[in-house]
Amino acid sequence: MRAAIVEEIGKVSIKDVPKPTPGHEEVLVKISTVGVCHSDVHVVKSHWMKVPTPFPIGHEAIGIVEELGPGSEEFVKIGDRVILGLGGWGKYWCGACEHCLAGKPMLCTRRKGLQGVFAEYFVVWAKALVKLPDEIGNNEVPLACAGLTAYSAIKKLSNFGIHAGKTIAIIGAAGGLGHYGIQIAKALGYKVIGVDIGPEKLEFIKKMGVDLAVDANEAIKTVRKQFKLGVIKGVSASIVFASKVAGFELGLKLLGRGGVLVIVGLPALSEGPFSVDPFSFILRGLHITGALVGNIEEMRELVDLAADGKVKTHVGRIGKFSEINEVLEELEQGKIVGRAILEIQ
Ligand SMILES: [Zn+2]
Ligand SMILES: [Zn+2]
Repeated sequence: MRAAIVEEIGKVSIKDVPKPTPGHEEVLVKISTVGVCHSDVHVVKSHWMKVPTPFPIGHEAIGIVEELGPGSEEFVKIGDRVILGLGGWGKYWCGACEHCLAGKPMLCTRRKGLQGVFAEYFVVWAKALVKLPDEIGNNEVPLACAGLTAYSAIKKLSNFGIHAGKTIAIIGAAGGLGHYGIQIAKALGYKVIGVDIGPEKLEFIKKMGVDLAVDANEAIKTVRKQFKLGVIKGVSASIVFASKVAGFELGLKLLGRGGVLVIVGLPALSEGPFSVDPFSFILRGLHITGALVGNIEEMRELVDLAADGKVKTHVGRIGKFSEINEVLEELEQGKIVGRAILEIQ
């Protein structure tokens, strides 16, 4: 079978490799489509950390279960159409540690990361699969990571008492995660101010359903006007999908008292840390939290929302498997609006 392998940093090769065999509680999935995520660019180019080569790549996929390993029949059957990856964390979690029991298997100390779905076949842990209803087509594959991450970040708001009806800002709203974020936040009942840069992107986020679209350069002025700000008032939460430190700082400035900054986009290490003014932070009662993909139950909830037609993927580029390097390049250069997918077979 064919599989994408990074043999040298910066370039993906499609190689002939043996078809894998499913082990205990594992299944073999015949991959239909995969999503190319921005983090694939960072991994291929080693922007975040050094990974020894060669290594397989890809963590968003939809496919059909073709073969069952022992014990997996409890969870799926042959012929099931499934979504897999869980944003790169859907390989294994223990289910018994404090983090797993708290619903955060992404923090499980025995978890295993998942990479390598850019392949004709992939072996995966059956418990990490979510079955797809017919309403969800194969092009919805970026729900597996981008969609899940956006969903989990917005669900976090209720932990801080920020419920339906409140106004939130989504920064980086026109990106892959942001466009899901808008739809999910609207479906959950929030009022959404979408922030991005340039008229084209603002036009796009209006189509996605924001209540107000503002350019990042105008955001502080506009939000203050919106809230008739004389003193300190602003949005209840800022969710920053843009992987820029400047986006975190803008998100913080837009918050009203008791507001929550949720940071999601991971900037390149070279951007360094971001600064927080302790006086403003304490006196205004702010919270800062991060969001790292999501869990299996959140994946199921998101699949339900998508099946109801409330969340739809904007696919900006559909490529063939052989076009993987071109698509990665276009992603890195910011040429793709929405998400990129590859048709594997
Ligand atoms: Zn991803
Ligand atoms: Zn665990």
